[in-house]
Amino acid sequence: MRTVLKFGGSSVADIEKMKLIADRLEKRRLAGEELVVVVSAMGKTTNTLLSMAKEASENPSKREMDMILATGEQVSIALLSMVLQEKGLKSVSLTGYQAGILTEGLHTRNKILDIDTKNVEKHLREGNIVVVAGFQGYNEDGEITTLGRGGSDTTAVALAAKLSCGCEIYTDVDGIYGVDPRLYKEAKHLDTITYEEMKEMAFLGAKVMEPRSVDIAQHYGVVIYVGSAHENRRGTYIREGENSVEQRSITGLSVLENIMMVTINNLPEESENISRIFTKLAEEEINVDMISQIPMPNKSVSLSFTASAEDKSAMEAVLHEIIQSLSGVNMETTTDILKISVVGSGMRTQSGVAAKLFKIFAESGISFKQVTTSEISISYTLEKKYKEKAVKLIADAFSL
Ligand code: ADP
Ligand code: ASP
Ligand code: MG
Repeated sequence: MRTVLKFGGSSVADIEKMKLIADRLEKRRLAGEELVVVVSAMGKTTNTLLSMAKEASENPSKREMDMILATGEQVSIALLSMVLQEKGLKSVSLTGYQAGILTEGLHTRNKILDIDTKNVEKHLREGNIVVVAGFQGYNEDGEITTLGRGGSDTTAVALAAKLSCGCEIYTDVDGIYGVDPRLYKEAKHLDTITYEEMKEMAFLGAKVMEPRSVDIAQHYGVVIYVGSAHENRRGTYIREGENSVEQRSITGLSVLENIMMVTINNLPEESENISRIFTKLAEEEINVDMISQIPMPNKSVSLSFTASAEDKSAMEAVLHEIIQSLSGVNMETTTDILKISVVGSGMRTQSGVAAKLFKIFAESGISFKQVTTSEISISYTLEKKYKEKAVKLIADAFSL
């Protein structure tokens, strides 16, 4: 039996916590299991590295960002491996490069292209617990790369897919809840959730799983178990779902923060203008959603969209040039918003979810700016001040 286990930053925040993890790994290794352990940077290390970089340069080069961010995980793997060896266990730590994780894309947002597991397999055969740095890899030019925030989940699932084994994600909550339990104390624990629903919840802000990792799991049929790193409570399985007759219409609620809404006013209505804007944004790999267009007098339109607030300066740089070339056009950006979404595969067959949500907003005086739907979700952008109230009202109404 072989398993990939992943421990997040808070679970390896200090040596004491690593020792607790080592106890857990020891039992399983001594029972004969082959273990690949993926770890994140300790505690808030990645955030500290990010702010150090900001201090050094207002707009640091993405290549150098990858160089600094990858150090966080390298510290964790070496320390955990030392703690394991101290217990008399055979262990080896491997960076992304040493684990054969080949990536492609822009620095700081790389995607895994393939994993050559030769080295990992060799160390497993020799009886080692193999401790792999999450969140990092290397590209075809031999450069060190990182996979974007939360990327250690992706490392773990991709390794499990390649090694044809199960994947266990250990974190600071004991599984997946209908709502982030830190936002809504009464949130209900889920025993299972489908790939599709977990993916949607993650894309829409539930940071407990990195969205791409769930996509990979679904594609390769990797069953993911999410559980608490330090408590012995039952966790949640993420896997293909069976269609129960009395399927719940809504499984979860997600909140996506750190977004911005951009509005471009007085834009001449010719579609080339709009096409130019989105082509430029796409070239910079800036993901936009919730696009809306309102007709204005004098054959002009007001165009709005949302995107990650992290892309604010890149977006302004891109759009500045276009806006300068058109007279009378101006742009407003607000980051005082968030996106609340409800998710559930049951929405395919059950109607009335949108009606219920509109009623909640109307009765509670919460105004929203935009609405979008997918097959299994409905999302609203709201001002940040409505966050707690909206979460509670929706979660109560749908028993999440
Ligand atoms: P790690 O460092 O282990 O990767 P993260 O902070 O990335 O951990 O993810 C765990 C956090 O995800 C939890 O502390 C919790 O606040 C948050 N979270 C958001 N949505 C959910 C949800 N639906 N169920 C459980 N946890 C959630
Ligand atoms: N350390 C990285 C981050 O904080 C990767 C991870 O934890 O998954 O985003
Ligand atoms: Mg995470």
